[in-house]
Amino acid sequence: MATPEQLQLHAPLSGVLMPLDLVPDPVFSSRVIGDGLCIDPTSTTLCAPLAGVVSNVQASGHAISITDENGVQVLMHIGLDTVNLAGRGFTQLVEEGQQVDVGQSLIEFDADFVALNARSLLTLMLVVSGEPFTWLSSETGTVDSGQPLLGLNPLGQVADEQVAEEAEALFSRPLTLPNPNGLHARPAAVFAQAAKGFAASIHLHKRQESANAKSLVAVMALQTVQGDIVQVSAVGPDAHAAISTLAELLTAGCGEAAAVTPELTPVMVQASSSKVLRGVCASPGSAFGHVLQITEQALEVNEWGEGAHVEREHLSRALAEAVSALQQLRDTAKGDAQAEIFKAHQELLEDPGLLDLADVLIDEGKSAGFAWRASTEATASLFTCQGNALLAERAADLADVSQRVIKLLLGVQNCELEMPEGAILIAEQLTPSQTAGLDTTKVLGFATVGGGATSHVAILARAFGLPAICGLPVQVLALVNGTQVLLDADKGELQLDPDLAAIEQLHARRQLQQQRQQHELAQASLAACTRDGHQVEVTANIASLAQAEQAMALGGEGVGLLRSEFLYLDRHHAPSHDEQASTYSAIARALGPARNLVVRTLDVGGDKPLAYVPMDAETNPFLGLRGIRLCLERPQLLRDQFKAILSSAALTRLHIMLPMVTQLSELRIARQMLEEEALALGLTELPKLGIMIEVPAAALMADLFAPEVDFFSIGTNDLTQYTLAMDRDHPRLASQADSFHPAVLRLIASTVKAAHAHGKWVGVCGALASETLATPLLLGLGVDELSVSVPLIPAVKAAVRSLELVECQAIARQVLGLESAGQVRDALRRYHDAKVDTSLVLEN
Ligand code: PEP
Ligand code: MG
Repeated sequence: MATPEQLQLHAPLSGVLMPLDLVPDPVFSSRVIGDGLCIDPTSTTLCAPLAGVVSNVQASGHAISITDENGVQVLMHIGLDTVNLAGRGFTQLVEEGQQVDVGQSLIEFDADFVALNARSLLTLMLVVSGEPFTWLSSETGTVDSGQPLLGLNPLGQVADEQVAEEAEALFSRPLTLPNPNGLHARPAAVFAQAAKGFAASIHLHKRQESANAKSLVAVMALQTVQGDIVQVSAVGPDAHAAISTLAELLTAGCGEAAAVTPELTPVMVQASSSKVLRGVCASPGSAFGHVLQITEQALEVNEWGEGAHVEREHLSRALAEAVSALQQLRDTAKGDAQAEIFKAHQELLEDPGLLDLADVLIDEGKSAGFAWRASTEATASLFTCQGNALLAERAADLADVSQRVIKLLLGVQNCELEMPEGAILIAEQLTPSQTAGLDTTKVLGFATVGGGATSHVAILARAFGLPAICGLPVQVLALVNGTQVLLDADKGELQLDPDLAAIEQLHARRQLQQQRQQHELAQASLAACTRDGHQVEVTANIASLAQAEQAMALGGEGVGLLRSEFLYLDRHHAPSHDEQASTYSAIARALGPARNLVVRTLDVGGDKPLAYVPMDAETNPFLGLRGIRLCLERPQLLRDQFKAILSSAALTRLHIMLPMVTQLSELRIARQMLEEEALALGLTELPKLGIMIEVPAAALMADLFAPEVDFFSIGTNDLTQYTLAMDRDHPRLASQADSFHPAVLRLIASTVKAAHAHGKWVGVCGALASETLATPLLLGLGVDELSVSVPLIPAVKAAVRSLELVECQAIARQVLGLESAGQVRDALRRYHDAKVDTSLVLEN
């Protein structure tokens, strides 16, 4: 409630309130202009929030200030970067110097025009005279124009600074303004803020006019334009310093990037007093520890052996020992994912292709070690040359397996590295074996140059709960052992020599994280329903029966993506109908009749070769015969799979989903085949049939696909790589191939719109759905189902429960207008942090 002496500021517009921290413009979000609020408007007439005199209207009509009798000055700024519209879309209804009443119409604007032609419609109301205020209403949610929002106590009329005698003042040289729109709100705020840092009385002069440099409104009122010649004058003890600093600032564009040089993203940036190296998160979490550089031992092998018979025996003994060592690792594995990796390594040791090649070389007189290394290296380089990151990861597995066998042949012990307590490992790349053998009581995390977020090393790190970053710049390899580092994998940052405050912050954050996880787990069975009652389905991405069972135990509401190809990779023969049918039925039974099971048909092709389906080598496997394309080339494969999937139709709410769909004809042919197979089985009802939206063509034509499907599921992993033209697992592009890119988000938005227009539901099953940072965004875009990585089900459900749909819609609208994935992430982080702060206040 406002007290009688309080001045009330009323809402200048109707709309949705948004915390200032979320405004994607640092000049506003940092409050350098002043504290206040932001409204995402639903009305189109800006009204006076207080009675007073119009102290400034920008010539472009997008910003206006009112000053009341006590000197309280309030600036309203409609939209972001609207100065660039040069007045188009705005109609000014009042004049500078005019007295206005509270609620009086000030500026009318064409919302459609502004929304289409400027960065955003977000409108700011800022108390630029600096009085602290209290909220008279909720800080979030909807507001009506005229509603009292802020209460503040005027500090009293601030006496105008005594204008110094010109004779005493020091003047800068004449300066030409580089800013494309002169000193409008943003550069003016930066300038005024800098001026406030000096004791001197400072003025900015344009021809005959001058303005108090410490007053944002006065500077704006000079109505400068690009090319204007201005001068700074100052009187006082630090006048010299003030003039040189402010002159330099003006020449450099007052922080307006476009006025000077484009922004670059350095790999190493200064964060407080320490340096930060950036990569991407391979496994979440954070740790503080000491650098320990890891380099792989270089092993020498003799080229020539002691005869084919002896060498063959050596090799088979070493291979057998390696298989049993891996079996031990499988038996003591911490989970399925880890065991699967060692199983895959065992299979490599038995691969006939590798063994045959080694055999030929041994016959030529080479030693077992030489032959085995040559064979594995030849195959590995074949994998890497494909230009395919998934195969490149297999190459890393091969190198690992190769080294394991060579060590056994040479009798080299796995020399246990002297591992100090609290080590953060740094390496070009770790092998899966190295990762699996880590002593997690001493190793707190690791950071590598190579590797990808989807590599086996990353999977192992997640299984161990070890924070890890990959894709770091090579400078990381130059760090001296023992250097203190703070590994913030969530942010993909390695901070060197962090200060005490950063370390304490990290510890506090870790504790909070642990508490939060326990809480989320305890609540995992509750529905994923927002505070304002909007329910979404949180389902699981699985590749095995074990994962289906785990998903149900963690509160999964179904399976949104069964990656069926993983049931059939790493084998030499196609599974029989009965084997397929029993796998699907077992998973269907684990879910039961009330839950959705979305089975994706085989998504194999160049990047995920199937040993029993011969395929031609392709130059660009990701652009080749993948997914539905391959299946339609080999229709019997698809028919057999349909038949096997249909056998579980009575056990669950069965959905079939086609991957990589690009053409309507692919969907139509597949549907026809499905109908024929269902008819042959005597089924009266078809299961639901949907498609993955992972090729931009399908997203762009979602309105044409929607009438012919039962649902869409958006595969953001592939949609990102195809939209941005960046390999999804390319280690050097990892930080750029980001699903938060606005281009990807726009495709999601239009897909959802098209689907809903035809009454169809839309899920997201790509990795974006598993990131809780993206949860408000996806909800705001209207996504109906989030299919996520199994361990993250409780966290995503908890994230949904903390949100309000109306806010999600506002933030989604806002980020669609941003320029880069980084900006989107920042905006979502600010939104998240503001929410956390608010909930802490509410809890206290
Ligand atoms: C995707 O592309 O986002 C997806 C879920 O499919 P996959 O990762 O299996 O290619
Ligand atoms: Mg995909």
